[in-house]
Formats: sequence, structure tokens, C-alpha cells
Amino acid sequence: MVMVLSLKKRLISLLTSAKSDTDFLDQVNKLAALEGTAVFQTLLEILGGIDIAEHERKELWQNIVYHRQQLSLTLGRDVDITTAISDYLQTRTSLLKHPRIVETSAFENIVHDTVHDNLTGLANRPSFDQTYQQQISMAERHGDNLSVLFIDIDNFKDINDTYGHAAGDEALRTVAQIIQHEKRNSDIAARYGGEEFVLLLSRTDNFNAYILAERLRKHVAETIIKHRRDSFSVTISGGIATYPTHSTDPAELLNLADSAVYLAKGSGKNNIAFYKAEKRRYLRVKIHEPVLVKELDFQDSTVFSALSKDVCVGGLLFENSYPLPIDSLIKVRMPVGDNPPVLLIGKVVRVESLGDNRYDIGMTTSFRSMDKIASEEIASILRKQVQSPDPS
Ligand code: GH3
Ligand code: MG
Ligand code: MG
Repeated sequence: MVMVLSLKKRLISLLTSAKSDTDFLDQVNKLAALEGTAVFQTLLEILGGIDIAEHERKELWQNIVYHRQQLSLTLGRDVDITTAISDYLQTRTSLLKHPRIVETSAFENIVHDTVHDNLTGLANRPSFDQTYQQQISMAERHGDNLSVLFIDIDNFKDINDTYGHAAGDEALRTVAQIIQHEKRNSDIAARYGGEEFVLLLSRTDNFNAYILAERLRKHVAETIIKHRRDSFSVTISGGIATYPTHSTDPAELLNLADSAVYLAKGSGKNNIAFYKAEKRRYLRVKIHEPVLVKELDFQDSTVFSALSKDVCVGGLLFENSYPLPIDSLIKVRMPVGDNPPVLLIGKVVRVESLGDNRYDIGMTTSFRSMDKIASEEIASILRKQVQSPDPS
């Protein structure tokens, strides 16, 4: 059963992805060389809803393919394989009683399963990847903008830890529904990974993408999710990058939108950020020097030394030998070059285990909450760093 289903899925996916009928038939033959006549049977079942004895499958399929060629020649245009099957089965055999050969609902169910994510009903990753390429090509052909909005649920691990995995799933479904509700019909929404979604906004510049993203962000934040006896809410962070403004390369564009999510997270989460090329180059620098960190929430916490990795306007990333609590307030003293150390105060917003007792810790820094002198000091240091960038 599993075998048959996976063959079915592979064939459906071939049907929906093949560039042309000829391409499709080529691929079917290749698959049949590997998997045997089950391929023909499965195809006839999908397209014709009929069950054929094993020894007849290959011949029947070859006759249909030949019939398609003949029909195309006679009619002077390409006849697709579905039509050829229907015509052949009706006119040359008694296998098909009804002209409506495709079991529409069964077919649609299988198609739905192969392109949609089971949990949320949004497009899944493989189908997104395929559509994405097509959308970029279309934008290119018509000279249109295409914005990519990447969305990541904030602190989702905590939701699972606090309310359980089933509640987490409910949150994913809720966010997906809100996305469906807020997007235009022509926009494409997909579940990209665990708690990550991506939206393709056709003919949309980054300003209009921002309006939609903000609406989405607010809607999510204001929605109460109910699961069993618990009620809770989640927030999202989003990143926007636009074709062709930020990049014309599809993979890079997606990466830029993803990196904008990190900017949004870095400035406190529940936020939407644009990808900003110049600003990032100007403000994000690597400073591989130890920083001194103190947890302010705990009166008598000791000061410890950690390795600074990356600093930008929204925050600082450093590596530590143990995790710090998310949302805890910390004070970081960052020595930079020959300057006096810079004092940064902010919250821990990201903790990621790198294995071997190494943790990446991301903190936000609010320049507003620090004094003016410190802010100016940082700005000048960052400027100097950019003039002589770290080779890495
Ligand atoms: P951040 O705000 O930085 O994004 O923090 P986070 O906790 O959301 O990020 P992280 O990537 O550490 O955690 C994502 C979590 O999502 C981890 C994983 O257990 C959970 N997750 C992934 N897929 C599913 C799913 O299908 N259902 C549920 N319930 N949880 C999932
Ligand atoms: Mg994530
Ligand atoms: Mg997340």
C-alpha cells in the first residue's frame, strides 16, 4: 500500500510538474524502466480509474501513447495524454463505461496531499519551491515586483514547552488561517518549515508588502488561541525582500528575506523588517573579542566572559558556554580595539545550542535605553570597523 501510494504521488507530481506531455511520457518511461508495469497500472488508475491485468498494462499504455500521436497528427495540434486515454478507452476498448474518466475527487485529493502541508493546509515546501521559480520568471517577463515575506513564530519552543505539542500544532493552524485570511487570492502562502511560513506577493513592492505584513502581525498578536483549557497567544516576526530591488536571484532573494527576519528578531521580535543592504553592511560587523556579560535580573550574578561574534544596530550575538534565560536582562561590556569598553544593555532574545556546551546568545540592544555618549561611541566604533572590515 505504501509502495503504491508513493508511486501514485510520484506520478501525480510528474503530471503536475512536467514541462510538456512529451516530457511527461519520457519520464514515465524512465520510471517504468525502474519500477516495472506497476507504473502503467497506476497511471491508468489515476487517469482512467481502471484496473488492468498485469500482462496487459504495458501494451495498453503503448497503444495509448501511439493513439495520442495519431490523434495529434489527425487534428493538427497537440493532444494531451488525458484526452488520448479517454478517447482510446472509449473508442477502441470497452474498458470505460463513462466518458468522465478521471475520478475527479480522488485525483484532487491526491494532488492536494502532494502539494499541501497536512497540518496547516497551506502549500508545502516542495510545491512552494516550484511555484517560486515560476513566479520569479513571470515577474521577470512582465517587469513586475515580487515580494517575499518570510515569517517565523516567536519563542515557539516555549509554546510547545508550556502548553504541549498539540497546542503548538493548534497555534500553527491558527497562524496559517490568519495568513490565508489576510493575503490576496493571487498571493501564495506556504509552510516553509516547522514554525516558518513564506508568502509570495506578486506585483507588490516592499512598501505594500510591509502593509500586509503589519496587518498580519497585528492580527496574529491579537488572536487568542484556545487549546483544551489553555488560552494563549503568539507573535510573529517577518522579513521582507523584493524582486528585483534587493536581488534578481531567487535563492538569494529568499535568503535576504530570511535574514531580514533576524533583524526583526534582533529588534525585539513581534516585528517586521525589510532587508536593508547598505544598513546591514554598515552596521553589522564581526568583533571577535571577549565581552563581559552580567545578568541584571539577578542581583548577585557574577560577571562572566563570552565571545562576541556579531554586532548590529539591533543587537549583539555572542557565544557562551551555557544558555541564558530568554527575556532576561543583561549588561554587556564590549571592549573594541583601543577604545574604552562599550556598555550595552538589553534582553536575551535568542538562545541556540551549537553542541559541545556552546550556545549562541542573541541580545537586543536599545540605543534609546543607553545614554547618548554610549550610542555615539558605538556608532563611531562601528564606522571604524566598517572602514577596516574583519576579513571573515
Ligand atoms: P525564535 O523566536 O528565535 O524563532 O525562537 P523559537 O523558539 O521560535 O525558535 P526555534 O527555532 O528554537 O524553535 C522552533 C520550534 O518549533 C522547535 C520545534 O520543536 C517547534 N516545531 C517545529 N515544527 C513543529 C510542529 O509541527 N509542531 C509543533 N508543535 N512544534 C513544532
Ligand atoms: Mg524558526
Ligand atoms: Mg521561531
